Amino acid sequence: MTAEPTTTGPAGTDPTATFTELYGSEPDGVWAAPGRVNLIGEYTDFNDGFVMPLALPHTARAAVSRRDDGVLRLYSTDVPGGVVSLRVDELAPHSGHGWAAYPAGVVWALRRAGHPVTGADIALTSTVPTGAGLSSSAALETVTALALNDLFDLGLSAADLAVTGRRAENDFVGVPCGIMDQMASACCTEGHALHLDTRDLSLRQVPFDLAAQGLTLLVVDTRVKHALGDGAYAERRAGCEEGARLLGIPTLRDLPYEDLAAALTRLADAGADESVIRYVRHVVGDNHRVEQVIALLDAGDVRAAGPVLNEGHVSLRDDLRVSCPELDLAVEAASTAGALGARMTGGGFGGSAVVLVEEAQAGTVAKAVEEAFAAAGHAPPGVFDAVPSAGARRLS
Ligand code: ADP
Ligand code: MG
Repeated sequence: MTAEPTTTGPAGTDPTATFTELYGSEPDGVWAAPGRVNLIGEYTDFNDGFVMPLALPHTARAAVSRRDDGVLRLYSTDVPGGVVSLRVDELAPHSGHGWAAYPAGVVWALRRAGHPVTGADIALTSTVPTGAGLSSSAALETVTALALNDLFDLGLSAADLAVTGRRAENDFVGVPCGIMDQMASACCTEGHALHLDTRDLSLRQVPFDLAAQGLTLLVVDTRVKHALGDGAYAERRAGCEEGARLLGIPTLRDLPYEDLAAALTRLADAGADESVIRYVRHVVGDNHRVEQVIALLDAGDVRAAGPVLNEGHVSLRDDLRVSCPELDLAVEAASTAGALGARMTGGGFGGSAVVLVEEAQAGTVAKAVEEAFAAAGHAPPGVFDAVPSAGARRLS
């Protein structure tokens, strides 16, 4: 497959020169953390369910030096505005700071957990497309957490770093995301998808060597984000909680797939809102689809996962109702052009789709999607290979 990312290349640049120019010395080190794409298991992570992300070759990179005077300086090559200078003892949740709230929130979360983080100089650069459902925010949090963990010798595990990043995003920035994004960025490994149980954060690396199987996983970034999505997450979340309450279980994770049909009848009999019934069907169905895909991957039958991805899309479109015309078009055009399977991924209402395709067909399918977008009058999508890549790591 030759389609290049239409955003900045995944190799990225080394932020060392930027760091030295800004702060006048060499950084103590350079770290990287990837964006992610979720293969299957959507809107399951706030129901204690299963997800299956893989790390992208696209990374956020940070050149960092520790400081001991309480000063935190942050810079990103990707946004205008210069260096943001803060004091670590004055960091307070929901106090603005724009993009800098993500790394500052990590410092805040570490300090709140009792870790002696006394300041840092940080220069960031990232190739993860922002706002495309590919977790550029988690990449930023994870790379910051990993760098500070090393520089302050905090001894935190990858899962601890993910929990720290999520706290930063939930409690400091104020975005109610689940734990999948940060866990994927912190814990994924090359050539694998991550089977993550969001109930207890237990995980397994599932071999997902696409190239060896002659397959490609394309990401189609629709480059749209519909405002409708803003309240939808909270509404879906509340609906799922209502479904669990009516069924008398702690979370929808606790409903076995075998009991789904009977549970839906019970919900209808109990007078549950029609939307609640749909949400329950989606969440329990998608948890089941994660297990199906894992069984197929373990059996070496990756191609057979295609129809499961298609079912996942239909469920997100019709039951959860978080798709949009651009995502539906990407999935439909890819399928018509011969993809093995395709689905929207991430929160929906724009963002990205994943497409499983024979490697030899990848160029044809990518072109078909681009042509369909042009014919519908949409701006060109970004299309690239989601090569299963490494999680967060120190580069130098
Ligand atoms: P996603 O995580 O799906 O890309 P989010 O809305 O969660 O979308 O996070 C995007 C936000 O993260 C951006 O608006 C910006 O504030 C921050 N961000 C991501 N990448 C960078 C970067 N390279 N430099 C500065 N801020 C970034
Ligand atoms: Mg995000």
